[in-house]
Amino acid sequence: MTAETRDALAYVCAHEERIRADLIDEGAGPEALDLLLAAAREDRCVETALEALHDALLASGDVLGVFGRGIRAVPTPLGVNRTPAGEIVYRCPGELCARTSWPEPGALPRCSVSGGPLRRDRL
Ligand SMILES: [Zn+2]
Repeated sequence: MTAETRDALAYVCAHEERIRADLIDEGAGPEALDLLLAAAREDRCVETALEALHDALLASGDVLGVFGRGIRAVPTPLGVNRTPAGEIVYRCPGELCARTSWPEPGALPRCSVSGGPLRRDRL
């Protein structure tokens, strides 16, 4: 899987609910999103499904789609300039997507792409 594919999956993972709502609002329906999630969870090739979702988003007025969002970097908490080594982050289980998140109070964050909880890791 290429870095571009993992980045696109990370975008989908972090914004699944919004993508779904946008597709439904624009009358496209969530099929392209559901097909992609099914492909990722069943360990099938996701490239074709990603392209289809990208095209569906472009057709519904999202000019960026799922590619080129550039969200691979770990989000930096306000007031912290450098990435603290050894800090705990949460990553996609199975490393399907390139998403990382900081721990937050409440439930363990879940990966929308794989359907499982994010796994704890250290920077
Ligand atoms: Zn994920």
